[in-house]
Amino acid sequence: MAALDGLPPLRDVIATHGLSAKKALGQNFILDLNITARIARAAGDLTACDVLEVGPGPGGLTRGLLAEGARKVVAVEKDARCLPALAEVAAHYPGRLEVIEGDALAVDLSGRLTAPVRVVANLPYNVGTELLVRWLTPPEWPPFWISLTLMFQREVAQRITAQAGDDAYGRLAILAQWRATPRIVLDLPPQAFVPPPKVSSAVVHLDALPAPRFPARARTLALVTAAAFGQRRKMLRSSLKSLSPDIEAHLVAVGIPPTERAEQVPLEGFCALARSLDGND
Ligand code: SAM
Repeated sequence: MAALDGLPPLRDVIATHGLSAKKALGQNFILDLNITARIARAAGDLTACDVLEVGPGPGGLTRGLLAEGARKVVAVEKDARCLPALAEVAAHYPGRLEVIEGDALAVDLSGRLTAPVRVVANLPYNVGTELLVRWLTPPEWPPFWISLTLMFQREVAQRITAQAGDDAYGRLAILAQWRATPRIVLDLPPQAFVPPPKVSSAVVHLDALPAPRFPARARTLALVTAAAFGQRRKMLRSSLKSLSPDIEAHLVAVGIPPTERAEQVPLEGFCALARSLDGND
C-alpha cells in the first residue's frame, strides 16, 4: 500500500534500491513516516523556509519535510546508493528537492539556500556533534540558520541542554546555550530505527538567538571550554594554565575562584573569562 504522500513505503524503497544499512555511515533508518512527520513538525513552520537536511538516506525525513510544506529542501548525502531513491522523491515534489552527493563536513553550500533556513538532520553521532559545534561557533552572529532540529543519542541531547552543576554540563551546553535556546522535543527508543542502535535517541531543537546571551569571541570561548572540560575534575587554575601564564589573575578579575571546577561555572562566567583573556574587560 502506498504511503499517505503517494510514494512507496520506505521498506519497499530500501528493498528496491538495495539499501542495506552500513554501520560505517551510522545508518539507522527511520521507516515510520509518522515519526519522520513528527520530527519535521518539531522543526517549526517550514512553509516559508528553505531546509538544509544532512544525511537523508532513503528519504523518510525528507518526505516529512516536503509534506510539511518546506519551500525547498537541500539534502546532503554521502552514500551514493541513496541517490536513486532520493531522485524519486525529487520527481514527486518538482523543483523542491535538491540532492547533493557529498560529505556534509566538506561540502560547500554557498548560494544554494535562501533565508530563512532551518536545518534538520538525523546523523551519525560523531558527524552530528562536529556539525553542531561548527554551526554554533561562526565568528559572526546571527548565523545562516534560524533553527537546528537534530537527532542525537539521548545522552548527548542531555549534554546540550544541561545546566551548571549537572553531571552532563560541559562544552556542548555552553556553546549551545550561549547563542541559542536548545530543548529536547522528542525521545525515541532504539526500536524506532532499522537496525535499532544500542542506545535511546532524542531530537534537540535549537532556536538561534538574535544576539549571543553574553559578549565573547566564539574562538576564545571554544578554546576555554575545551581546556576547562578536557580536565573537568581539575581546578580551573590548573586546567586553564596553558591558556595564559596569568590565568589566576584573569579568574579572580571576573569573580571565579581559581580553585573552582569547570562544572560549577555558569555560562556567564565562561563568557567573562573569554573576554578577559582577549583583553576586552
Ligand atoms: N535521515 C535518514 C533517516 O532518518 O532515516 C537516515 C538517517 S541515518 C542515521 C544517517 C544518514 O547520514 C545516512 O544516510 C548516512 O549515509 C548519512 N551520512 C553519514 N555521514 C555523513 C556525512 N558525513 N555527510 C552526509 N551524510 C552522511
